[in-house]
Amino acid sequence: MARVYNFSAGPSMLPESVLNQAAEEILDYQGSGQSVMEMSHRSKVYEQIIQEAEALLRKVMRIPDNYKVLFLQGGASLQFAAIPLNLLTGSGKADYVLTGQFATKAYKEAQKYGEIKAVASSKDVTFSRIPELDKSAFTPDADYFYICHNNTIFGTRWPELPDTGEVPLVADISSSFLSEPLDVSKFGVLYGGAQKNVAPAGLTIVIVREDLLGKARKDIPTVMDWKEQAENDSMLNTPPCWPIYICKLVLEWIESIGGLEAMEERNIYKSKLLYDFIDSSELFSNPVAPECRSRMNVTFVTPSEELNAKFVKEAAAAGFVNLKGHRSVGGMRASIYNAMPIEGVEALVAFMKEFEQKNA
Ligand SMILES: *Cc1c(COP(=O)(O)O)cnc(C)c1O
Repeated sequence: MARVYNFSAGPSMLPESVLNQAAEEILDYQGSGQSVMEMSHRSKVYEQIIQEAEALLRKVMRIPDNYKVLFLQGGASLQFAAIPLNLLTGSGKADYVLTGQFATKAYKEAQKYGEIKAVASSKDVTFSRIPELDKSAFTPDADYFYICHNNTIFGTRWPELPDTGEVPLVADISSSFLSEPLDVSKFGVLYGGAQKNVAPAGLTIVIVREDLLGKARKDIPTVMDWKEQAENDSMLNTPPCWPIYICKLVLEWIESIGGLEAMEERNIYKSKLLYDFIDSSELFSNPVAPECRSRMNVTFVTPSEELNAKFVKEAAAAGFVNLKGHRSVGGMRASIYNAMPIEGVEALVAFMKEFEQKNA
């Protein structure tokens, strides 16, 4: 069986060593006589898995002690509602920066619960950059300020974080989770779905500063209340046991290759391989402002729809799958998360060169 290079935006590739270890342990996890998929989440053996996953995440991300880590279900999309439900109880106001489809969805969801302002947007340039911010537009008494750190569909990333002063910064890091070191203390809340870079689908991780707990609306569904989840060690109800286990293995893998500094270096290297080729190409181009380019999701186009379709088809036949851009934007997108090996990107660049020679 040959494995392909999978450039899917999510769910996406996992490190092969992680898959192998999971396979080895699938029938009998470390002498327990059971699969992790079958265990009671309240058993001693599972308790150890979730505790180790949290301890490793804290270590790898250097999460300060005054932050809680929650392992939840419902995807990033459930948090689009959970964020206002948990936080929008002071002034009832929040600021959002519209940098793409997911930021806009979060903004629209929040509008159900309070006075939500879009303080900047790059919609006018098809989200091809992170917009300039005008601080005088910020709401001084906002309950929080919201950004999407890496924009999966448009292939952009915040080159530097906004300075929001005392207003807690909330960031969706679904597609940049564990791809680079982040100073957690700059954020009130960091959260993301795990299926891009951390684990299989089904797990959503929320990292929240303790002083932001206990502000939820009275009518919040109990499982969405971060304080309730924190007080119950993410076990208010059944957590996503299997993805949490894989998350632990992924964190062990990240540690083994040198932590987030090494990961970032690798990710800069891999994305540069691709961007450098695209910038030198006469056939392929990338619309994103260079300083705003994502290291995880690299978008590109040829001059025609026909050629785009031909490229995606021929690439798939050659073992480079899921290169089609998001259905809302077309073109191509190579998602090169942590688990994409350097050789995968090198092979893709070689394939693109060959395609260019044949089709220019
Ligand atoms: C994939 C993605 C989402 C949506 O995640 P779900 O887990 O499917 O709800 C939200 N934000 C970003 C940045 C994403 O990449």
